[in-house]
Amino acid sequence: MAGEPAVDHLVQLNGTEPVSYTDALTGLGNRARLRDKIAKLTAERADDPAPFTIGLVNLDGFRPINDLFGHAAGDDILCQVAHRLRASMPDGAVTVRLDNDVFAFVLPLVFDERGAMKISDLFQQVLSAPYDLGSRTVRLSASFGFAIYPYAGKDFAQLLESADTALYRSKRHGNGKATVYSARIADEMKRATQLEQALRSATIANEVDVHFQPIVDLRNGYPIGFEALARWHDVELGSVSPAVFIPLAEERGLIEALTETLLFKAARAARSWPEDKFLSFNLSSAQLVNPSTNVKMVSILEQADLDPQRVEMEITETAMMADPELAYRIVDGLRDVGMRISLDDFGTGQSSLGRLREIAPDKVKIDRSFVSEITRDRPSEHIIKAIVALCEGLDMKVVAEGIETEEQSAKLQSLGCYTGQGYLYGKPIDADAVQRYLAGLDEALTGPRYALPA
Ligand code: C2E
Ligand code: MG
Ligand code: MG
Repeated sequence: MAGEPAVDHLVQLNGTEPVSYTDALTGLGNRARLRDKIAKLTAERADDPAPFTIGLVNLDGFRPINDLFGHAAGDDILCQVAHRLRASMPDGAVTVRLDNDVFAFVLPLVFDERGAMKISDLFQQVLSAPYDLGSRTVRLSASFGFAIYPYAGKDFAQLLESADTALYRSKRHGNGKATVYSARIADEMKRATQLEQALRSATIANEVDVHFQPIVDLRNGYPIGFEALARWHDVELGSVSPAVFIPLAEERGLIEALTETLLFKAARAARSWPEDKFLSFNLSSAQLVNPSTNVKMVSILEQADLDPQRVEMEITETAMMADPELAYRIVDGLRDVGMRISLDDFGTGQSSLGRLREIAPDKVKIDRSFVSEITRDRPSEHIIKAIVALCEGLDMKVVAEGIETEEQSAKLQSLGCYTGQGYLYGKPIDADAVQRYLAGLDEALTGPRYALPA
């Protein structure tokens, strides 16, 4: 392993200003150095374009450290990162700092995705060892984006842009990820950006709507409450599923605004339902890491004039995981004002009995993936049986999601589950349709096993 020596190059190009090739803080190369190296490699390989790779690395969570410990500590970490990168670069590689906490490197002998991923694993290990800051140590992970010449670009600007797109994708997928640029990834990112722009406008214009799916007593089909489900129809993009736009809203920082408008709309609608019908509302994972969630939710219900006792907040275990302490506090706060907590999609993701006890939800929703298999698959039946018994023992209510057939409903009831929702009882419908349904005016809008309210 041999990196570039930390020597300041000042290059005087016939009569122009001297160009520095060195990053003053870390002693690595800088952008000009990177451009120069890529220009040389592309010129060398113009006739016979043997691939080479450029990589970008961005430290995850560097900014909070800078804010918390001060800029001197931040600079210290950047120098340690530079040192580690240089020490672990393969022969012939060039390492530079592009700006702030973004470093770049050129790997002349790495020419495919596998090679790039191997390097990112190595660097990830090297960079995630603790950083010594005198009296304390901190840990950081890093995100990577790679672009391989000539597929991802033929010159400095194109290659850097491709690597940047790949890095951006890694960042979107969480900390410590690596992505190698490809046409598919470029398409994916382009579509996400289009969607984001459309969603941003739709949120501002209050165009994202909310529909309601009845949650019924399986024994008689009567609705006992409704789950609010976000619906978005864009003129150009058509109907976009909440399974697509909710995660996007979370990633792009739109979820707060979106949730506020959705909860207001849902609560306004619920206010006109009979008092005994509850509103079940999906809280996003972003709300469980935001300490102001409680105050926000309560004030929206106040504005909409809906009693919090008529509201159930649906959360998932996975969403609780990001910052469990804070999530518990938020959940407790919602309970304190009378809301109930419902654990959504139970049995998928990171289910844990310990967490079930700690969250102590009022209700557990059995995921559709078990319900849809209940009449065909013994393990699913056993899992549902176990969940029902568990909830009974812990004094929690249980709701089955995604009931589509009479057989499923009968089976669930035989296992002791008497509450559920699904297309058999009713698809999600808009607020006016719920009104007509509750007034007994429009039976046809609901599922085949509809029943009018008592
Ligand atoms: P979820 O909360 O588990 O909602 C249940 C999903 O199952 C809904 O999909 C519903 O339309 C669908 N469903 C209900 N019954 C049946 C059935 O019998 N068969 C089938 N095949 N599907 C059924 P939807 O509306 O597409 O929502 C998907 C997910 O998006 C939701 O899963 C929830 O996690 C999220 N979501 C929806 N609206 C919101 C919202 O307002 N805020 C947040 N944070 N997330 C939302
Ligand atoms: Mg739900
Ligand atoms: Mg669910």
